[in-house]
Amino acid sequence: MRSRERSARPCAGQFGFGGAVAGLSYGGPVPVEVRLCGDLVRFVPARLRNKAIRVTYDGTSSLGHVVESIGVPLTEVGALRIDGHTVPPAHRLAEGDVVEVDPVTRPQTMATSPPRFLLDVHLGALARWLRVLGVDTAYDTDADDEALVSHAVRERRVLLTKDRGLLRRRALPYAAYVRGSRVEAQLTDVLDRFELPLAPYTRCPVCNGTLATVAKDEIAHLLEPGTRRSYDDYARCTQCLQTYWPGAHAKRLDDVIRLARARFSNGTVSPTSPDRGSEARAAEKGRT
Ligand SMILES: [Zn+2]
Repeated sequence: MRSRERSARPCAGQFGFGGAVAGLSYGGPVPVEVRLCGDLVRFVPARLRNKAIRVTYDGTSSLGHVVESIGVPLTEVGALRIDGHTVPPAHRLAEGDVVEVDPVTRPQTMATSPPRFLLDVHLGALARWLRVLGVDTAYDTDADDEALVSHAVRERRVLLTKDRGLLRRRALPYAAYVRGSRVEAQLTDVLDRFELPLAPYTRCPVCNGTLATVAKDEIAHLLEPGTRRSYDDYARCTQCLQTYWPGAHAKRLDDVIRLARARFSNGTVSPTSPDRGSEARAAEKGRT
């Protein structure tokens, strides 16, 4: 594994006081402070960013629970420190403790290498782009939260979502919040966070199946005359049998692949990949 590990950004500047967090209802009167580092401030209201968040601690809850109560999913948390010493999420706080919370270290190591993903229902565009890059990405538009969790557990997949409530599910072994509203930003975030070898054009963007080269003669009868005249190299999904060839929309996807390779990956291209400007474009009559 190459060394690309980056330190979490330090907590920004001097902290003012953000006051107690509304909604926390700990019974005890023990005051503690929580300082969020890096981009973790995105998870709290604007008025609390770059401020030490005062929390009235009940004396029994875990530090992890306190951090979650502020609004920060533990999936996004790296080191937790008190007086410079790292403590676990199960740690119990003492009066006057000042806790620094780091974002998760990137690249993040997961249970499987490379990680396999499961995307929440509203991340369909990201699912397609990850598949085009050859990343194993499950996606089902009809899955509810229970189905997503059981799928992630069963196949040891990293659940990617923008739903913070879903990230708090205890049954989920691996999950991550996806930053960005546009697919380009989301893809950049995922590639930056995980160690992902890329194999462009080796997976079907429709179903996540693997692609295999198919002889033109085998599928010629399914192609439009213009396509048949223009292209000689074809691939077919081994699961849904969708046929692909170098497509008209290749440039945008090739730009994405170049960007991904340049910034994030040392992965090599699979020898079965066309890798020369072929968008994995669904054949209009491409089901064989
Ligand atoms: Zn397919």
